[in-house]
Amino acid sequence: MGICDMCGKEDELYRTEIEGSVIRVCKNCARYGKVLSEVKKMSPVKLKKIQHKAEPEVVPLIVFDYAQKIKKKRQSLQMQQEEFAKQINEKVSLIHNIETGHAKPSIALARKIERFLKITLIEEYEEQQTNKKEEKSDVMTIGDLIKSKLK
Ligand SMILES: [Zn+2]
Repeated sequence: MGICDMCGKEDELYRTEIEGSVIRVCKNCARYGKVLSEVKKMSPVKLKKIQHKAEPEVVPLIVFDYAQKIKKKRQSLQMQQEEFAKQINEKVSLIHNIETGHAKPSIALARKIERFLKITLIEEYEEQQTNKKEEKSDVMTIGDLIKSKLK
């Protein structure tokens, strides 16, 4: 579907040679010239590219309660900060600062801790926030609260 170059009607279009120039016209107007080919819909490859471009970027973020999560899990494993630090090849002071919330681990370090402790420290957020329902979201707006009460 497209807009006819001649009459402006929206219809299936044909590449048509009319008076020496090739234009895209509807079936009706195509009668005035020589049809070269049907104008195909956008190729799937092109479509895919466009869709990909529109996809929001996913940004990894450290969960807000990373300190408690790490500390709790480490303690449940009955591991001292020193041992934990040694196991993941980091300084004890850094582990201490992270567990007290004074330092936020980098994404790389958080991934390392995630793997080691088998906990989740990184959540991926879509940069372009859509109005999609995010059920596992920790942050609720007043609107969400009202909606959940109405359920
Ligand atoms: Zn037309």
